[in-house]
Amino acid sequence: SHSLVGTRIWVAGHAGMVGSALVRRLASEHCTVLTADRAVVDLTRQVDVENWLRAARPDVIVLAAAKVGGILANSSYPADFIYRNLAIATTVVEAAHRIGVQRLLYLGSSCIYPRGAPQPITEEALLTGALEPTNEWYAVAKIAGIKLTQAYRRQHGRDYIAAMPTNLYGPGDSFDLSNGHVLPSLIRKAWEARQRGDRDLVIWGTGTPRREFLHVDDCADALVHLLKTYSGDLHVNVGSGVDVTIRELAELVAATVGFEGRVVTDPTKPDGTPRKLMCSARLAALGWRPRISLEEGIRSTVAWFVKSSRAPV
Ligand code: GDP
Repeated sequence: SHSLVGTRIWVAGHAGMVGSALVRRLASEHCTVLTADRAVVDLTRQVDVENWLRAARPDVIVLAAAKVGGILANSSYPADFIYRNLAIATTVVEAAHRIGVQRLLYLGSSCIYPRGAPQPITEEALLTGALEPTNEWYAVAKIAGIKLTQAYRRQHGRDYIAAMPTNLYGPGDSFDLSNGHVLPSLIRKAWEARQRGDRDLVIWGTGTPRREFLHVDDCADALVHLLKTYSGDLHVNVGSGVDVTIRELAELVAATVGFEGRVVTDPTKPDGTPRKLMCSARLAALGWRPRISLEEGIRSTVAWFVKSSRAPV
């Protein structure tokens, strides 16, 4: 096991949804959390990152910085998704090694797995089949990130590990209607539909795809658990073990915000992968369980959205 007591931990991407949850979670560990503002350190520039590491001297790096977005953002900005995510991974991992940082946790995503992977998806399904085309740019970059951690472990003896969170949501998410992920988008759509007194809440696709969701505070807790307990070549899935259809999700969100109209589908929009439920047995075997139910997580995220957007009640 790896104690975090007295360690210096750099959370790269501390302003993002996962990074900020991690900073909140690490406040209750006896460690020093380091952060670098975007204006100071460009994570795609080798010299910037090496200079920062030389000055900050972290013992541990969590690489939670990424260019992320929903199904439409991925297909609209393929170059941004592949370039930025590859550049951040290669730059930070190589800089960590050069400066002598022995421990690093890289964050991937459940979209790394083949579209047709047997469900629930185990870690071994990686690279066994073709990817989902709507997000292959992002997926290829994230797969390269995993391979980087394995390669630096193998060649240089670095204790670099990788975690693959499922679809995350919670405070700090992007509620942008065209570029965001499904859960925050539905919260905003349902909220605005209620304000306007609309009869319909329109969801993209057929409503039949199934997705697994994990609250970002549960994810941050799992990541701290992995930092304390895990070393190894294989990446580790981080999921809730529960999935719902997009229609069920929309109905749950509608009920939570008090929207009383109908949920209507727009099949001209893409569905993406039919199902993406991960097997998180490996993480469970390490002694971790999620705590926040989807109902409870949606309730608190709606409250956060209303407060942060100062939406009229
Ligand atoms: P994915 O998990 O990579 O497919 O990314 P998303 O979170 O963007 O989308 C998940 C599923 O929700 C897809 O089947 C979308 O078509 C569906 N969906 C339904 N309504 C929306 C919406 O308003 N925004 C987004 N992003 N997805 C939606």
